[in-house]
Amino acid sequence: MSSGIVKVFKFGGASVRSAEGVRNLANVVKRYPQNLVIVVSAMGKTTNALEIILSKYLDNDITYKDDILKLKRYHTDIATELFNGERDIENGKLESIFSEIEAFTNVNKNTDYNYCYDQIVSYGELISTAIVSAYLNSAEIKNKWVDARSCLKTDTNYREGNIDYKLSQSLSKESFSFQNERVYLTQGFIAGTAFNTTTTLGREGSDYTAAILANLLDAEDVTIWKDVEGVLNADPKLFKNTCKLDFVSFQEAIELAYCGAQIIHPKTIKPLQNKKIPLHVKSFLNPDAIGTKIFQSETSLQLPPVLVLKRNQVLISLTPRDFSFVIEDSLSQIFAILYKHRVKVNMIHTSAITFSVCVDEEKHYLPAAIEELRSDFAVKYNKELELLTIRHHTQDVIDEHISGKQIYMQQRTRSTARFVMDAIER
Ligand code: ASP
Ligand code: MG
Repeated sequence: MSSGIVKVFKFGGASVRSAEGVRNLANVVKRYPQNLVIVVSAMGKTTNALEIILSKYLDNDITYKDDILKLKRYHTDIATELFNGERDIENGKLESIFSEIEAFTNVNKNTDYNYCYDQIVSYGELISTAIVSAYLNSAEIKNKWVDARSCLKTDTNYREGNIDYKLSQSLSKESFSFQNERVYLTQGFIAGTAFNTTTTLGREGSDYTAAILANLLDAEDVTIWKDVEGVLNADPKLFKNTCKLDFVSFQEAIELAYCGAQIIHPKTIKPLQNKKIPLHVKSFLNPDAIGTKIFQSETSLQLPPVLVLKRNQVLISLTPRDFSFVIEDSLSQIFAILYKHRVKVNMIHTSAITFSVCVDEEKHYLPAAIEELRSDFAVKYNKELELLTIRHHTQDVIDEHISGKQIYMQQRTRSTARFVMDAIER
């Protein structure tokens, strides 16, 4: 087999949530004779389930063991359906992965949330790829399973590892050599440190993994296979009359991801843009349809209004306790505290004595940040808000979506209008 053109495919949790999904993945993959790297997420809602298991484990609530059994049953059922009644795959691989989880929870003494998160939550992808790889082999799609932790190396910033590109490139070129194999299968979302502990790249990080591998292997393109026909101008579960965007520039995609579009992980674009590698978003239900192409566009592309809704927002207002102005020194103090606690800032506004910031409601970092801010600032906050962003806005579209709503904060530029408002039933 020769090296040469490489395509990177990513299949998300929804696409592999059932035996039928895995069979469908195989049917999609069969259509492509090229060299492939297939990146797969955890099946269905496994990552959420593992997050609950982790919290219970750290709280000494031993019912986490029942939850692990449930997760095992879910995967065993899928395997049983795929492998004609066999409850496990390739020499008891599933059994051994679940024993590893158990062994970790029994032996581990480290109570750091982020560290334990990565050691436990990463199993979702290890399990899904073991099943999918075995199934593809059984369906005559010979493939090599690669442990992403051995070739994507990060620092020890658990839950949001920073990739060491240089080291990862040489390791990935070795692992994905295309010498004797045409198809490789690996995990999204997970990576490893130099000391071989596991790290993750942030929730929904499998897209990012696909982009990193495409960059490191100089892939021809990346395709994210989803259950929607491509990138839409709004989430059809939340808004009426949506339409598909055929072409989107990298710049626009970064803006959309930044303001909360769920369609791709915000970090995904940069590794692709740096090497001008196009990204296709396509439907695994209709692989012939063209989907959306995200690429380096030299001309500006005409787009309809695009709506992005970020839910579970908190608006925090800070006033210096000594009633001094909110100017550069206090701003830099505020940002240093937010940064230290990894609070992601979605939108800000300043007045003479008040600084307002809209952030995601989040229960691990935010309370610590607020605690620290309280020593110098009076802190007030509103919860259960939504942040609506309208790119390429028209007055009609703005009116349609904000009229009659309580607006707490708003901002408009020529291309973007943003509103923090009460959450409503949608
Ligand atoms: N399984 C991980 C998550 O659900 C990563 C991903 O799906 O991209 O966040
Ligand atoms: Mg997922």
